[in-house]
Amino acid sequence: MTPNAGRILIVDDDHALSRTLSWVLSENGYEVSTIPSGDELFARLAQTPYDLLLLDIDLPGASGLELLKQLQDDARYREIPILMVSSLSKEDAGVEALGLGAVDFISKPFSIRDLTARVRARLRAGMELNQVKTAARSQTEMLEILREITATLSTDEIFQVLVRRVARGLRISRCSILLAEPIPNAATVVAAFENPTLRNMRVDLQRYPEVQKAFATGAPVLITTTEVDPLLASARTEWEETGKTFPTTSLLALPFSLKSGRSGVFYLRTGKTDPLLNLQDLEFADQVIRSTIPSLERAFDMQRAMEEQEQFRLLAETDSLTGLSNRRALDVRLQVEVDRALRYRKALSCLMIDVDHFKATNDTYGHLIGDLVLTQLGELFRREQRTVDLVARYGGEEFVVLLPETGPTGARTFADRLIKRVESYAFGRPDLPVHVTVSVGVATLPDEDVTDATSLVGRADHNLRDAKNAGRNRYHH
Ligand code: GH3
Ligand code: MG
Ligand code: MG
Repeated sequence: MTPNAGRILIVDDDHALSRTLSWVLSENGYEVSTIPSGDELFARLAQTPYDLLLLDIDLPGASGLELLKQLQDDARYREIPILMVSSLSKEDAGVEALGLGAVDFISKPFSIRDLTARVRARLRAGMELNQVKTAARSQTEMLEILREITATLSTDEIFQVLVRRVARGLRISRCSILLAEPIPNAATVVAAFENPTLRNMRVDLQRYPEVQKAFATGAPVLITTTEVDPLLASARTEWEETGKTFPTTSLLALPFSLKSGRSGVFYLRTGKTDPLLNLQDLEFADQVIRSTIPSLERAFDMQRAMEEQEQFRLLAETDSLTGLSNRRALDVRLQVEVDRALRYRKALSCLMIDVDHFKATNDTYGHLIGDLVLTQLGELFRREQRTVDLVARYGGEEFVVLLPETGPTGARTFADRLIKRVESYAFGRPDLPVHVTVSVGVATLPDEDVTDATSLVGRADHNLRDAKNAGRNRYHH
């Protein structure tokens, strides 16, 4: 008989008999525990799901019949099959009189064969009960998982919840989710219970033939014991060649697909100390993933909508020629920075930059080269900026740079550096270098004449005119 054909608890104060029964039943493949009285019966039952009780009638303390009554009155244990053992006959023991006639009864002395036959018959019912209970546990577990998932908005969080709950629920050490990639044989691990910080790790599916098969066939791959499965032959050999034993004892690769066409595999693996995966686990994992799909799809939709919105926002704030912030984005940011600088008496500098004689550049090289020069100027300015700075195309061949927390000295240094960079840079194309210069007007807060964003820009513009009038290719502050 296979090991663990069922769990049996013997309650009997006759040690010799207990020991004999225990030995015989263990020989038959059952897992047997014994206790001498009813004292710890309920504590034991709460701890371990027994499939059958062997109960002596004549016990010290509470009698077998009293225990029987208590068991029948307890909804948790009512269904456990009980085999009463007694030197009395069924009638004499008064079992019938108590209305407990359904309980099986065996009189001492009894033949071992009679006992094992009855145990076997009763146990079948008991085992089924425990399976139902396991299923019930999974149902409760399911509802909790779903509750956690529906409260979750991002796909990333949903994946994390899934691997964590299913790994814990099934007591397995490794559980991950892979999403297919458009490239053949590639997938991305989006969550792994065994490595909670892992996000989006690309893997080669040729190393995971079971996952590859699940993706290819759309059907679950359940390997209840990895020792002989041909699918894992090369992986196993690879491990054994390094002198180690293959760490996976059983596995499940469960494919799923979303309406967007995205497909994934829920990938469960057990190690040496984990209970092996079986069909029931497959059903549980399958139910979990199917019930999660609507939430997952909603989260993906939401994510896409947010990305699109972000794209629109970026487009609306970007100058199409240079990729810099446009006038509109500048106005918003300028307002924020000026307010902050005025309220907290912080420094803020604003540079207005205008290309010198740009009409002449256009006239000489054409508008297309003129456009190219403006783009290259934008790149050059962007390279010089700090992350807190803002570079915007103000219009035409004019640019504005905002330097938060930068006083007069810093602003002049920055303006000077820009002017020198532009002056020495070859714009245009390698075969057609173009040289330009810029003039810069600088304005800095605090300044008693500057009370708002408009007057700050006005001041910078005024200083720009002065720089032009003073001969160009310079700044004025
Ligand atoms: P300065 O500023 O030194 O006084 O001389 P300028 O020639 O630059 O003066 P003005 O402001 O009169 O002319 C600006 C020129 O910039 C006119 C226009 O053709 C050119 N310009 C403005 N926007 C663009 C653009 O997007 N592309 C190109 N190629 N040229 C532009
Ligand atoms: Mg101009
Ligand atoms: Mg100009």
